[in-house]
Amino acid sequence: MKREADEMKEITDGRLYGSRDLVRVGCHDCEGCSTCCHDVEGLFLTPLDMYRITRGLGRPFEDFLEQEIELTLCDGVILPKMKMQGQEPDHPVPREQMPACGFLTAEGRCGIHSFRPDICRLYPLGRYYEADGFRYFLQIHECERPHRYKVQVQEWLGEENPEENRRFLLTWHAFVKGVGESVPKLTDDSRKQVLLYILRLFYMKPWEDDGFYPQFAARMERAQSVLAPLMNH
Ligand code: SF4
Ligand code: SF4
Repeated sequence: MKREADEMKEITDGRLYGSRDLVRVGCHDCEGCSTCCHDVEGLFLTPLDMYRITRGLGRPFEDFLEQEIELTLCDGVILPKMKMQGQEPDHPVPREQMPACGFLTAEGRCGIHSFRPDICRLYPLGRYYEADGFRYFLQIHECERPHRYKVQVQEWLGEENPEENRRFLLTWHAFVKGVGESVPKLTDDSRKQVLLYILRLFYMKPWEDDGFYPQFAARMERAQSVLAPLMNH
């Protein structure tokens, strides 16, 4: 997931933003536009995203694997991501006519807006992870809405508890990165066991109603104690 300097130069305005900085992302609530919900790869979902989606729609994780979500390998780890719906045309068409996210409504609005995933909240921003945290970058070739206005990054993200959210993202990012770097050294059987354990613990096991972050911390503690012996061999 680490973006190389050259790629960053090409896709960003060359700046890194903090959560209190203003950035030109305001797009009038996407009125009349759903372009970025079509033909998009890599909409990976975090455990917090699945907590919000499963509870918001009152459906278990497995239910979404029938249609809206698929499992795929991301840097060596099995993760769920949004699945594009529909047949890809065999001739060039505008992006709005390409397959779309399964949560996009017929009216072209996000059907899960209040609990949409982190990556959709961010867009067209991205996160740049550094040794001691992360900052944000603006992807200049993404949203093409004219006359965009400046919004504070944390307001754009709309997280109720930005500090806890930040801690969660750093923990999850470091965990996934660590697993991705360790599993290639394992036997096929051990690798499969580890990846399925993570999938079950952080995605398939239902989340209770009493707040995500304490439940996540407990599961992470469990995962680290269970996986440490396997990963250190
Ligand atoms: S491309 Fe821009 S305006 Fe259109 S839906 Fe995406 S963020 Fe909104
Ligand atoms: S979850 Fe909502 S915002 Fe994100 S891609 Fe799907 S329809 Fe678009």
